[in-house]
Amino acid sequence: MRLRLLSLYPDQMNIYADRGNLTFIRKRCEWRGIGFELTSCGLGEEFDPGGHDLIYMGGGQDRDQKAVAGDLVRVKRGQMFTARDDGAVILAVCGGYQLLGRSYQLEGERIEGLGLAGLETVRESGPRLIGPVAITVDLDGTERTLAGFENHGGRTYLDTGCEPLGRVRSGHGNNGRDGLEGVHDRNLFGTYLHGPLLPKNAWLADHLIGLALEHHHGGPVELEPLPDELESAAHQSALRAAEAG
Ligand code: GLN
Repeated sequence: MRLRLLSLYPDQMNIYADRGNLTFIRKRCEWRGIGFELTSCGLGEEFDPGGHDLIYMGGGQDRDQKAVAGDLVRVKRGQMFTARDDGAVILAVCGGYQLLGRSYQLEGERIEGLGLAGLETVRESGPRLIGPVAITVDLDGTERTLAGFENHGGRTYLDTGCEPLGRVRSGHGNNGRDGLEGVHDRNLFGTYLHGPLLPKNAWLADHLIGLALEHHHGGPVELEPLPDELESAAHQSALRAAEAG
């Protein structure tokens, strides 16, 4: 078995060590004897939409987002839609998550997004939404927790009928008002959680690995459990920070 991971704009979209998510997926594949292939795709480059099982984009400052947004829409939009429709898994964090939506409205400037998800982000007046965050997520009939750290000026609003990734237990989430966090639509996942997200939430890493392998190999895959003592400790510590906040 082999998992093919595509990292979009690794040079620009890597805030709060979001690149750690890639290392974590690599290690969890290697520990199980699953082949792992990492391809990067930067400014001006196209990718083969059928050649990747998991597409990843991390967070970035407004400045970096602006630099990649035009490229994303001009050069990669068609490939992103084809990959999504073909069942590739997409994970986007913070700035990357915002670019999944139709637009990111800044003061006097509208950054066009991919429009892969029914959501919009607006930079409103008011403080940045910063701090530890914990959310409750139900992807398969079982409630689980994600814990991490958020720092965003943009407030994201989901269209009616568009499902969040989870519900805020503590922290701000999409906009600090409606109690929703992230977006989830079949194989598409967006979230504000840094930390990095996956090392602190190993269950989500395995969920994504399972979906990605299913995409590549065409059937459900049973993943060998891993000891996860350090990962559980990292999760508990992030959760405690969120609950203390
Ligand atoms: N620049 C975006 C915002 O401030 C995203 C920030 C991030 O990726 N942490 O809303």
